[in-house]
Amino acid sequence: MSRDFIPPAKPIIGDDERWAVDAVLATGQLAQGSEVASFEEEFSQVLLDGRAAVAVNSGTSGLHLGLLAAGVGPGDEVIVPSFTFAATANSVALTGATPIFADIDIDSFTLDPASVESCITDNTVGIMPVHLYGHPFHVDAIVEVATRHGVKVFEDAAQAHGAAVNGRKVGTFGDFAMFSLYPTKNMTSGEGGMVSTGLTDVERRLRLLRNQGMERQYENELVGFNCRMTNIHAAIGRVQLTKVGAWTRTRQENAAFFDANLAGVITPSVADGYEHVYHQYTIRVPEGRDDFARALKQEYGVGSGIYYPIPNHRLAPFKTGDDLPVTEEAASSVLSLPVHPSLSQDDLERIVEAVNKLAKAGS
Ligand SMILES: *Cc1c(COP(=O)(O)O)cnc(C)c1O
Repeated sequence: MSRDFIPPAKPIIGDDERWAVDAVLATGQLAQGSEVASFEEEFSQVLLDGRAAVAVNSGTSGLHLGLLAAGVGPGDEVIVPSFTFAATANSVALTGATPIFADIDIDSFTLDPASVESCITDNTVGIMPVHLYGHPFHVDAIVEVATRHGVKVFEDAAQAHGAAVNGRKVGTFGDFAMFSLYPTKNMTSGEGGMVSTGLTDVERRLRLLRNQGMERQYENELVGFNCRMTNIHAAIGRVQLTKVGAWTRTRQENAAFFDANLAGVITPSVADGYEHVYHQYTIRVPEGRDDFARALKQEYGVGSGIYYPIPNHRLAPFKTGDDLPVTEEAASSVLSLPVHPSLSQDDLERIVEAVNKLAKAGS
């Protein structure tokens, strides 16, 4: 019996995105312009409670430029999780600073404040926690550690559009925060990133760094990049922004269905007062995770993902020899199930049945 494969992620692009792109093409104003400015304004209103937003060509550029705008450079240390996509540590290394890897806790998969504190040295200038899978990091505890040691907080919110802690949106806690607009994230512009900041000098430097160091044409003020977003990408992003709230509610409903019906695996927990936007719905399978994922696909046609199988501190560019036991435990046991808003009720039931049967067979 062959059933349709359920993919682990599925970007949703509709006619209105197509029409929006067409409208930009018809104007001939393709590069960064009014469409990008409108996207920044709307992103700020919808997702950041009005905090300023600066659009760039990728989330990775957003982290890199954000760090440069915040003054991070050679000789500095920035504490990051090892359990994240490599872009987090890459962005620190690209400034000439050194990423220092701290451990996580197994419930939230985000930075453990005690481990962060143990990594602080005289060279530490900042902490870059990740709102991993769409669950906010321990905002209060991390900000407290940062404040006590006089270092900054930079949020990697690549996976967390609309997530919140006690009603306050992620992306409004740090000196800056980055949201990715890559196709598999909770909303997309094709490729792209958005950087939020409440600091006017950081915002100004971000805008300069994005565009060759220019505010006024040919009056370059510093050495900058071309990390501009195009009007074409912004047009896609503006349409997606009108839909991301409803998509998030669907992700949360899908997650609630899994919470209520999965058995024999460890389901994700959500801390009190935290709003999880389920970029990923990540279970843990402590024994035989890789075989479990293979069987899900081959026997049941259910796709899944392992984010991330190799922690950054063991990747070639960073190899540190750090001992991060909880990071290792997560890397060897996590499995992300499809939770995206295109899933049908039938898909949800198939996923539950497949996971529960495999969990039972393995126990
Ligand atoms: C996707 C992602 C990034 C990078 O974003 P891009 O838009 O792909 O450059 C950075 N950090 C995390 C945690 C991500 O998931």
